[in-house]
Amino acid sequence: MSDIDIRNNLAAVKRHIHDCAVRSGRVPDEITLVAVSKTRSLDEVRMAIDAGQIDFGENTVQDALSKIPELKGSHSQWHFIGHLQSKKARQIPGNFHWVHSVDSLKLAQKLSSAMLNAEEDTSINCLLQVNVSAEPSKSGLNTTGVVPFIDELLQLQLPRIKWRGLMTIGVQGDDASSRAAFSGLRSLLDQCQREFGLEEFDQLSMGMSNDYPIAIEEGSTMVRIGTAIFGERNIKCTG
Ligand SMILES: *Cc1c(COP(=O)(O)O)cnc(C)c1O
Repeated sequence: MSDIDIRNNLAAVKRHIHDCAVRSGRVPDEITLVAVSKTRSLDEVRMAIDAGQIDFGENTVQDALSKIPELKGSHSQWHFIGHLQSKKARQIPGNFHWVHSVDSLKLAQKLSSAMLNAEEDTSINCLLQVNVSAEPSKSGLNTTGVVPFIDELLQLQLPRIKWRGLMTIGVQGDDASSRAAFSGLRSLLDQCQREFGLEEFDQLSMGMSNDYPIAIEEGSTMVRIGTAIFGERNIKCTG
């Protein structure tokens, strides 16, 4: 993709996010656009940064680490959005600011100890991934497992992790099912807020290129958008 295409696409997506928010009676500023740069080149990410984009999403550590260290000093914020193996947790500190896909206690523990061992004295923002649509191919906690999971997390009292909310993936090519999943995730966030009263546990990461308008209508605060910004991916991605 050329510089001008990425710039125009970003502007169009931002305008659409703004319009969807206003139409749903929401404040546009409470929605973060995460530009999903998985499989894209360093140059393409630089073009997006030059066009003012700050938040980027990657779904494998390897792909991300070919870019993030090159872009230090750009004030970019990096979001890990794929399935994260616990053994890769130590590569998160110093590279990522958010992990959207925590779905096991083991991973939470590994992330916390990786943060404690890191040079910088910072914390990481984490979301719990929930498989609301209960598709066997997807990772994530079951909807009913979320409250008991948070109960256990809080007993562990993991330092350097800020629990910030929930994430889900819609149902490919099925808007009605995606909407049901998104509204289910929002109810779950409400329930978690009532039960645990966690500070800043207020983020809903939901919506991709094909379903972000629906996600915004249902309360999304973080949309993860790749194709609509950078064009079709020609490499198949996992995660
Ligand atoms: C690839 C990916 C996206 C972006 O998908 P597009 O359809 O290209 O917008 C969003 N979220 C996750 C978890 C992804 O893996």
